[in-house]
Formats: sequence, C-alpha cells, structure tokens
Amino acid sequence: MSTGKWTDYINPAVRNIPPSGIRRFFDLAAEMEGVISLGVGEPDFVTPWHIRESCIYSLHRGRTSYTSNHGLLELREEIAGYLAGQGVRYDPRKEILVTVGVSEALDLALRTVVSPGDEVIIPTPCYVSYIPCTSLAGGVPVTVATSMEDRFRLTADKLEAVITPRSKALLLCFPNNPTGAVMDRESLLQIAEVVQKHDLLVISDEIYDRLTYTGQHTCFASLPGMRERTILLNGFSKAYAMTGWRLGYAAAHEDFIAAMTKIHQYTMLCAPITAQVAALEALQNGKSAMEKMVAHYNRRRRLVLQGFKEIGLPCFEPGGAFYAFPYIGHTGLTASEFAENLLLEEKVAVIPGDVFGPGGEHCIRCSYASSVEDLTEAINRMGRFIKRKGLS
Ligand code: PLP
Repeated sequence: MSTGKWTDYINPAVRNIPPSGIRRFFDLAAEMEGVISLGVGEPDFVTPWHIRESCIYSLHRGRTSYTSNHGLLELREEIAGYLAGQGVRYDPRKEILVTVGVSEALDLALRTVVSPGDEVIIPTPCYVSYIPCTSLAGGVPVTVATSMEDRFRLTADKLEAVITPRSKALLLCFPNNPTGAVMDRESLLQIAEVVQKHDLLVISDEIYDRLTYTGQHTCFASLPGMRERTILLNGFSKAYAMTGWRLGYAAAHEDFIAAMTKIHQYTMLCAPITAQVAALEALQNGKSAMEKMVAHYNRRRRLVLQGFKEIGLPCFEPGGAFYAFPYIGHTGLTASEFAENLLLEEKVAVIPGDVFGPGGEHCIRCSYASSVEDLTEAINRMGRFIKRKGLS
C-alpha cells in the first residue's frame, strides 16, 4: 500500500478538499507589518464583561462537568424562548441541540440528511465551509450563483432551475456571508413555495440574524409549512462577540435533532459547560450590550459604503452581517489580482470574492468589524491604490 508518500494514506475525500483561499491571504498578511486587515469575519469587540463574569463565577462554583448531550436544559429553554420571539416554537427537551458553534451544527445537519450522491443546493457566494462540508458528508454541492443585480438574493427561478431528482436540501444563509445580503419575507415565501413543491429540506444558517440593519430578519422556519422541513442553525459567535467560546445550536423537528444527537453524543459528547453558562447569560441579559455592538457595525457599514462611493468602488448596499462586497470588475483586474496587489502595495487585506464560489469573481469581501480609524485609513489606502493604477 505504501508508496512512501503519506498523502497516499489520506482519505481521498479529505485529500481532494482544495486549500482555503482565505488562508493564503492570511498567511501572506501575517508576514507583513502595518497591515490593516478587513479580512477576518470576526467581531473586533471582546465578549461583554457580564458574560465573561458569569463564566468566571460558574468556574468558581466548580461547574466543570459534562452536561447532557443536548446541552443545559436551562439554556435550551432560553433558546426556545428566543426562537418563539422569531415566530417559531420548539420543544426545548426534544427539538434543540446545543453544539460547538454553528460549525458543528452545520456538519451534523449535513451528515444527518445527506446520503451518498444527494445534491445540496448552495446559493453562492457562500460561507467557505459549505461546499467542503457537503462533499465530506458524501453529498454533491450544486451551486447557484446569485448576482449583484438581484442584490445577491436567491430567486425562486434560479432555485427551480437547478433542482433535479437528486436534490435533497437547500442551504440558506441570510444575512449572508460574504455579501451582506438579506432576504425579505416576500422573497423567502417564494423560495418556500419551491421548497414545498419539490419536497426539499432546508438548512438555514441564521448566525447573523441579529445583525440586520435594513428591515426585519425573517426566520425561515417561521414561514408557513417550513418548520417541519427546516434545520435552523444559529449561535453566539457574531451577535455577542463570542467566537472563541465555540457555541451554537440547531433547532428542528425532533426526528432531525434525535439523529443529529446520535453523531454529536459520540463525536463531541456535549458543548463546553463554561460556554453554555456564558451563552445563557448572553440570552438572559445580553440584549443591550449586543444592540450597542450592532449600532457600531451599522455606523461602520454606512462609513464604508460612503467611502467606497467616494473612491469609485461600486458597492451593493449590504443589509446585514458585517461585510461589504464591492465590485472591482471595472478595474480589469481579477479579484485575486486586486486583493494581492492591494495587500502588497498598500497593506490592506481583503478577500477575493471568488473564494466564496460562483458569483463572487468580480468582487472583494471587506469586513467592517474593525475600528473606525482602521476603516478610514483602509479606504484612504484603497483610494490611493485605485487612483495610482488609474483603475476607477
Ligand atoms: N456560518 C457562517 C455564515 C459564518 O460566517 C460563520 C463564521 O464566520 C460560521 C457559520 C461559523 O460560526 P461558529 O463560530 O458558530 O462556528
């Protein structure tokens, strides 16, 4: 069996995953000094103090054990209360599973519903893990490119066009990473109609739900007929600045949750108790701190949009998350060339849109979860770059 190359020992499903396009830029930026990074999709705030304090206090009291596989019941009850406020009711005892971030919940959902060869429809540009996680689950990712003209929303026509007899699930993410697109209730109802007609399941990643600046977030599972066929994913990383705590959850019909728990109980056992205690505090008392952070993001969103306008970068107005996705196609550079030259010449790190799949080729992702000073300086440098190159 051995050819002397260790790669031969690696499962081809893993071997065939291409290297992350994002990682390459981080590695490049890490070797340079004075870089302003608009690259990372991570809040620049630390977790609010009262949340950290609740965790410290719980450690003080010796809460260091495993919890139920499902997570602390108190936390599941609080999550159920939050989701009821979003218009959808779940039984906290059977229909909610606390996970190690949305990342784990996504992996569990895919591994639970995908049989070998099943197609998972993924609107793109999309979060970088969707396509590899679908492949690792044995599924076939079927991308459907959204466009700036459609404000990066998925349309019912585009969805219908890619459905085949092997279509099993649709993977939605609104507000969206990387585009910042949001979908209103009316547009989601049209998607729900197609979902119903073709008997699809939906995995809805709503990790950015609280970071909605225009209109109101619609929870996909709250739409008529969608609760039973949707696995709703959400978590604490973004809204509460809790990325490092690694806490998320899935809410769905009890059959899905029971199946997901079968995997979770052996692979994770449970999410860390310290993070669960902190998440409970976040849901119970974290609203005002969270709203303050969201107000900051919204201010920065406007600053960035205005800045791009002034330097001649057309940008669709993102309604949620903390990303802007300006168009750079008119410069004649590919997204990778633009991002690489910008980094090398002006020390601003952005992510080329093509790493997020079809539809992102002529855009770059800029995270505005950075200080006003950094954003202002980054836009100045980008303006200088565009002017110097005569690209506008
Ligand atoms: N889903 C989306 C759309 C994301 O953007 C991210 C992180 O950037 C995640 C999931 C991962 O979330 P978590 O930190 O809860 O694992």
